[in-house]
Amino acid sequence: MRKLKKSDKRKKQEKKDFIKEYKKHLKCEICGETHPACLEFHHTEQKSFNISSAVRSSSNLDEIKDEIKKCKVLCSNCHKKMHYDENHSILLDK
Ligand SMILES: [Zn+2]
Ligand SMILES: [Zn+2]
Repeated sequence: MRKLKKSDKRKKQEKKDFIKEYKKHLKCEICGETHPACLEFHHTEQKSFNISSAVRSSSNLDEIKDEIKKCKVLCSNCHKKMHYDENHSILLDK
């Protein structure tokens, strides 16, 4: 039996391609932005890792897919606002 061993570089490319392809079908849940360059993943549950760094790290594609399922899709603007609000409500003791 021939053993298929993919290089790390190949695996990273595979993950990048998956995210790129995946993002094509997404849109921001708040404002409806659809451009993949603006879309980010916002964790709604305890995050085990950051998706963008997972693409660069040794995490495999299945782990990334699982993590994406725990996320909301937001554009970078709405994402920043979301976290700004979060921080703000802490300051306001709410
Ligand atoms: Zn948005
Ligand atoms: Zn977030």
